[in-house]
Amino acid sequence: MAFQLVCVKCGSVGIIIDGSALAPPSTVVKCSHCRSARGTLGDLRNLATSGRRDLFDANAGLSA
Ligand SMILES: [Zn+2]
Repeated sequence: MAFQLVCVKCGSVGIIIDGSALAPPSTVVKCSHCRSARGTLGDLRNLATSGRRDLFDANAGLSA
């Protein structure tokens, strides 16, 4: 399952990570607006290391 950079349900880019940045890769990342699952922390980290960091720099709420 690919990580959803933009929520397919509400269009928000904000996310919530339960347990902070030290959480395991299997941790489910949720939409900060509607709380639906957007993917796992592992999926998010894969994206962050694939040359698309610019997308995350503009994403308030993801500072780690
Ligand atoms: Zn949402």
